Amino acid sequence: MNVPAVLDHRDLGRDMRIFDTSPLVGPGLPLWLPAGAAVRYELEQYAREVALRTGCEPVYSPVLGKRSLYERSGHWAKFADDMFPPMYLGGPQGASDIAPDGDADPLVLRPANCPHHAMIYASEPRSYRDLPVRYSELASMFRAERSGVLSGLSRVRQINLDDAHVFCRPDQVGAEVRTAVVAVLEVLDTLGIEVSYLRLSGRDDSGRWLGEPAQWAEAEDALRAVLDDVAAPAGLPWHAEAGEAAFYGPKIDVQVLDARGHEETLATVQLDFNQPERFDLTYVAASGERERVVMIHRGTVGAMERMVAFLLERHGGRLPFWLAPVQLCLLPVGDAAVDELAADLRSRGLRVRVERDGSLGNRIRLARQRRDALLGVLGTREAASGELAVTDPASGAKASVPFAELGDRLAEAARRRVPRVAL
Ligand SMILES: [Zn+2]
Repeated sequence: MNVPAVLDHRDLGRDMRIFDTSPLVGPGLPLWLPAGAAVRYELEQYAREVALRTGCEPVYSPVLGKRSLYERSGHWAKFADDMFPPMYLGGPQGASDIAPDGDADPLVLRPANCPHHAMIYASEPRSYRDLPVRYSELASMFRAERSGVLSGLSRVRQINLDDAHVFCRPDQVGAEVRTAVVAVLEVLDTLGIEVSYLRLSGRDDSGRWLGEPAQWAEAEDALRAVLDDVAAPAGLPWHAEAGEAAFYGPKIDVQVLDARGHEETLATVQLDFNQPERFDLTYVAASGERERVVMIHRGTVGAMERMVAFLLERHGGRLPFWLAPVQLCLLPVGDAAVDELAADLRSRGLRVRVERDGSLGNRIRLARQRRDALLGVLGTREAASGELAVTDPASGAKASVPFAELGDRLAEAARRRVPRVAL
């Protein structure tokens, strides 16, 4: 079998001017150039839309917090080595660990957003009728990766994550997980990413699981029911793996193949019995008793860096039309006037580039190297007939499209998030 040559996202990133790094800023801290920012902006907008549509309320929280927050959450004990050193406001550690406000608790850059969202949940008393509560945030988290392992967008020190946390009653777990898995499958489909299978990671007979066995059994049954319900209609297999759960709760992983044919987990819906325990997150049940809430971690697009790296390689740089940094490259020939056309298209939110300098052949080569979605040649013949000669370099399809139709057709394709514009 021929293994297709895979273009590395770092090479594509350079050709397409997606990101750059600067020795002065530091390794693992990519700068998003305008073309990359355009892709990320579209992904973020989409993630926000899906989060809203699935009942999330947007929140904002700080990128740092006191170390004691992460001691309470358990992150400090487990991930301190992967976190940046604590910041002591009173001076470097050792000199003084007492901050001017008398607080000896240093600040840390967060390794995860969950504890902040747990604190938002805890900011008011909750009744069983208020649940589920769902918070979403596109926010940064940090990892003190060693310089040697840093790579392009795939291993970085600041991760920008599309993240959501659901706080619900045990009897709501099934419906919430279902919503989350359906949202992930829709998003991956729109991104042109084929899912291989779904995986339920549950507990085994060992005693290393946090919480009551009955709680686990109920949760795993709910996840199984979701998978039975969702996987088959989507034509996807699923299987369970006993003993693969996190100690704090079962999860569903969405498995895909990357451009090299390696299996990867691109999204996870994770139940968490631990954070509610550690932060004492409760609600008042119908009985009047305080009951422990269940937390679910979910996202759709996930980490912007990782998703953009994945998409670039998966599509060989030829991103779906709605994500393409340049959706149409206009190539005027002679003194054809394109400014009005370009301004009209841009006013509809389309990303249009005008390439004027050099031979037509050279300009086409540059546009192909940038993976511009469509090329539009405008010579005297086209100007006279009021049509643009449009080519899709990915498929080779060509068509003459009247100026009057062009804006509507492209804007509609972008709005519907279609992979390609039908020419
Ligand atoms: Zn989380």
